[in-house]
Amino acid sequence: MTRESFLKTLTFTTLTMTSLKLSALGSLSTDLDETSRLPVLFVGHGNPMNAIEENEFVTGWRTMIEKVERPNAILCISAHWETQGTFVTAMNNPRTIHDFGGFPQKLFDIQYNAPGSPELASFMKETIKSTDVQPDYAWGLDHGCWSVIRQMYPMADIPVIQLSIDYTKNPVFHFALAKELAALRRKGVLIIGSGNMVHNLRKVDWEKENSGYDWAIEANEGFKKMILNDEVDKLTKPKELSSAFQLAIPTPEHYIPLLYTLGLKEKDEETVFYNDALVMGSLSMTSLKIG
Ligand code: ZN
Repeated sequence: MTRESFLKTLTFTTLTMTSLKLSALGSLSTDLDETSRLPVLFVGHGNPMNAIEENEFVTGWRTMIEKVERPNAILCISAHWETQGTFVTAMNNPRTIHDFGGFPQKLFDIQYNAPGSPELASFMKETIKSTDVQPDYAWGLDHGCWSVIRQMYPMADIPVIQLSIDYTKNPVFHFALAKELAALRRKGVLIIGSGNMVHNLRKVDWEKENSGYDWAIEANEGFKKMILNDEVDKLTKPKELSSAFQLAIPTPEHYIPLLYTLGLKEKDEETVFYNDALVMGSLSMTSLKIG
């Protein structure tokens, strides 16, 4: 451990202890203790250009978010932050990460300057028991996070933190970890999983701009049915599903954020789908709101 990261860890630990022992989470704690249960979201983020375009999907995100009470903070689980171990961004001012190539300069020029929340990061470290959550000071907000949140909250005045995806763990682990975040929903934290249910970049077909392959349609419909029927066993063991699903999730990173969202569903809650569409043959924009 370098001197710098040691000092940062020390600061984080001190913060954690102060927060808990003295109930000094400040405005965060005060505000968060008082809120009703916020919904939990999964967003199909698709093309990074959605960050700056006006299209049906962006309209769908905005229409959905209008019905959601303004959160005190946002926690995003993005497909684009995979780590060994579980990390949470803990800096005051997360940078905007342009983690893509081949797009117009105007997309690289975008800065989404939402503040971070070291207090919330610290609170999460204490809340999550199944694994050791480490503070991170290097990441920031990747495009899976900011391209979507920018369109929902353009003023960038709500703190945003990210939780990483531990790529060494299986879907059952991620589904279970999500459940440990349940208390945050009653503390004014809006939790957003950002990925794509159907995501196979190798099969992208520009001729199918607004449609999908038969297998992609089958997988999209199948996922929705399993979600509505709460078929957790199937959803957390995607490798055991049919060939259409294997084509839909050739790698797990865009699927796992969905499991965080589903893991937070409580018994009395309804699931609503929107942006239910396939693009480029092998991508689904299907998004959902629970609660
Ligand atoms: Zn992506």
